[in-house]
Amino acid sequence: MKAYVLEATWDPRPDYRPSPGEIETRRALIGSSVWRHLHGAFKEIDTPQPGPDDVVIKVRRVGFCGSDMHFFETDADGYITYPGLTRFPSVLGHELAGDVVAAGSRVVNVRVGEPVTIEDMVRCGHCYPCRINQPNHCENLDEIGFSLNGGFAEYVRVPARNCWSIASIRPRVANDGRLYDCGALVEPFTVVYNALVHAAGGFQPGAFTVVHGAGPIGLASVAMLRACGAARVIVFEVSEERRALALRMGADSVHDPRRVGADAVVMTETEGLGADLQIEAAGAFEHTLPAMERSVSLMGTILVIGRDAAHVTIYPEPLQVKRATLVLAKGNAGHGTYPHVLRLMASGRIDPLPMITAKYPFAELEAALAASRARGHGKILVDVS
Ligand SMILES: [Zn+2]
Ligand SMILES: [Zn+2]
Repeated sequence: MKAYVLEATWDPRPDYRPSPGEIETRRALIGSSVWRHLHGAFKEIDTPQPGPDDVVIKVRRVGFCGSDMHFFETDADGYITYPGLTRFPSVLGHELAGDVVAAGSRVVNVRVGEPVTIEDMVRCGHCYPCRINQPNHCENLDEIGFSLNGGFAEYVRVPARNCWSIASIRPRVANDGRLYDCGALVEPFTVVYNALVHAAGGFQPGAFTVVHGAGPIGLASVAMLRACGAARVIVFEVSEERRALALRMGADSVHDPRRVGADAVVMTETEGLGADLQIEAAGAFEHTLPAMERSVSLMGTILVIGRDAAHVTIYPEPLQVKRATLVLAKGNAGHGTYPHVLRLMASGRIDPLPMITAKYPFAELEAALAASRARGHGKILVDVS
């Protein structure tokens, strides 16, 4: 079958000592310290067969993610900038939807022919974090599209327990193509749901809320805050195109943070009280944290989802005075997150489709990659069907 395969050279930096486990499995925990000279190309590889607990999916749609971009961005020494779990060669792509075409002998939760999306984080189930129900922190984590073959291929094999049917969304959309579009967009919403509901403990409906950054995670945050009952959603984003997308996803006001003082805008738009909940989805801590400190409400929450490989200074005083909470979140596994996000989409409470700004055929994947690097897009999808 045809697949887009990433290859890279295993060459740990002089100051990085990979563990014996990393060396044995060629699975780097900090990819940016190990892999250099990454190269992606279309290849013919074997079509996967399911093990007893696996399914094979005929891929229909795959979304591009910020993490995917970080594989291709390299530093002066040629190392990838993605700091997380990685193993090469592997097939790129972790935000995907398709149809189950083969199922192993022990599979019970999905049937052949069922349209599904996938949970990309594959936990071991045995380590300490897994055993205390913290699958996002599994010590032996594998990730589809990062350390296991992903979706930029005609077929992908995944554990059946990582599959969720998207058939419930079918009555909401015009055709199967739109159904797969929705399926490929589930993953960023699960990242937001995990952070907002499980890590931050939700918020009181009627809250004043803010989203910093309107890339895919910020746009999903806007829709999720609306669905969860926010009274106001204020968005800060430098790209004009993304500000327009934020309005389409349900933002009440959008602002360019280079032209306004974000904290002053928040105070004005929250009756001088500050925001009950602010989401960092920009990955620009140096700019967003000070603004959030200055405009958090009494008992407010600052929720950091964006990733930024930077040391930053936090000024605790205003947070102490406001008895505020700083929550840092990652991941999307477990806790019933996937089925709940799917219910929000099936009920029409959340419509992810306005996020899509471009769709490319599989053969033009590299053009889609180039487009993704230019900021300003919402979600770019690749049609693999
Ligand atoms: Zn992603
Ligand atoms: Zn584990």
